[in-house]
Amino acid sequence: MQYEVVIGLEAHAQLATKAKLFCGCSTAFGAPPNTLTCPVCTGHPGVLPVLNHTAFDYALRTALALNCHINRHTALDRKNYYYPDLPKNYQISQNYLNLGVNGQIGLEAGGQARRIRIHNVHIEEDAGKLLHPEDVQQSTLFDISQEERAALAGMTLVDLNRAGTPLCEIVTEPDMRSVEEAHVYMETLASLLLYLGVSDCRMQEGSLRFEASISLRPIGSTQYGNRVEIKNVNSMKAVVRALEYEVQRQTDCLAHGEAVARETRLWDDSGGRTAPMRSKEQAHDYRYFPEPDLVPVEIDAAWLERARAAIPELAPARRRRFVEQLGLPDYDAGVLVSDKALADYFQDCVRHGAEPKAASNWLMGTVLRVLNEGNLAPADLPGRLSAESFCDLIRLVEDGTVAANTGKQVLAEAIAMGQAPRETIERKGLRQISDAAELEAVVLQTLKDNPKAVSDLREGKKQAQGFLMGQVMKATRGKANPRAVAELIARKLAEAP
Ligand SMILES: [Zn+2]
Repeated sequence: MQYEVVIGLEAHAQLATKAKLFCGCSTAFGAPPNTLTCPVCTGHPGVLPVLNHTAFDYALRTALALNCHINRHTALDRKNYYYPDLPKNYQISQNYLNLGVNGQIGLEAGGQARRIRIHNVHIEEDAGKLLHPEDVQQSTLFDISQEERAALAGMTLVDLNRAGTPLCEIVTEPDMRSVEEAHVYMETLASLLLYLGVSDCRMQEGSLRFEASISLRPIGSTQYGNRVEIKNVNSMKAVVRALEYEVQRQTDCLAHGEAVARETRLWDDSGGRTAPMRSKEQAHDYRYFPEPDLVPVEIDAAWLERARAAIPELAPARRRRFVEQLGLPDYDAGVLVSDKALADYFQDCVRHGAEPKAASNWLMGTVLRVLNEGNLAPADLPGRLSAESFCDLIRLVEDGTVAANTGKQVLAEAIAMGQAPRETIERKGLRQISDAAELEAVVLQTLKDNPKAVSDLREGKKQAQGFLMGQVMKATRGKANPRAVAELIARKLAEAP
């Protein structure tokens, strides 16, 4: 039997505010444990939360950009459960009146346009973080002696710096029909959040996290199969691997006539497999109830209008503009807008007079390769090479001042070391020799030194041309303009029969 894959995804995006959701503590990443805390986020008795308006506004923009219906009267709820990283024994979240519902996002997977429905968008606070024995021993964040560290062997510690960090949770309907679609959805959503400027989406720092649910059903069936939820997936790559593993595992189950158990499974990244979570850990009854310490949030028309106006041009509109106004091929436009920083940089280049297609070729080719090799992101580009200097380099290659290959090397150095290309070219004497008068003596000498190649060339042996060019290049240490040399060789041969 042929099966269809059914996937839904839940995303937790950390909202890019400086302060936590209900107190003034900093949300900075990487501070020593328990230094960014106060009585509110550590759940002391008698304290009261105060809602961070900016965080709520960011979540509202996200819900609007995901085409959600906005609940103008919305409220926060308590999700009750006990866990050592949750000092209040409840998490403030939304359950009954989610900020945004019934949204959708468009994406393109495998050459097909798809719409993924968004079940809801809501705001909630993050929990703290447990440091397990291996983290404790390896962490460089503790300013403690070796002896003190040794005394902590085998202990699990808690760090409440993350507790109370504002999160926006985005839940899809089970609308994805392949692992690839799920991958494209994650990338499209991350790109949207970056365009909105509401999250930095640094997955390695935990500011964007995903959980997936997946089931299989016979093709043509309208009923869903038993759903497996996957947790502990820390990167998009891990989500993709975990989903691929589950497709295989569930297919095998069904092929052997076994039912797939409805359960939560944990992804083991190093082992490359999922395993069932202990059932005790998933016996949740959250007993949600409206948060009594916070008043409901009323979104009036003016606030809604301001939030709508704060949404910038998003990737699909920008892609269309790059094609229609700048004449880029759709493929180029798609690559450029997939990363907001890259698209911004491209726009800067065009503003500085770069020909759009030339700038796009450089960015999609050499620049992305160099960034990739250096483990850098397009967001790192402007700090290392200004759009103005980059345009300058493109012009130097186009007018033949430097050879194309030299230009690529100079670009790589500029990005790696942050040096202006023109300075590198002058300092290293990398200008091409295009001046015929300057090249003539070298060409004449080369022809004189290689009579055999000259007669071969006259007899029409093409490889002799390459040999002579190579000799001129050698004599000029690669700086001769190849086109100028080829023209000169042809002219000299015609002049001296
Ligand atoms: Zn605090």
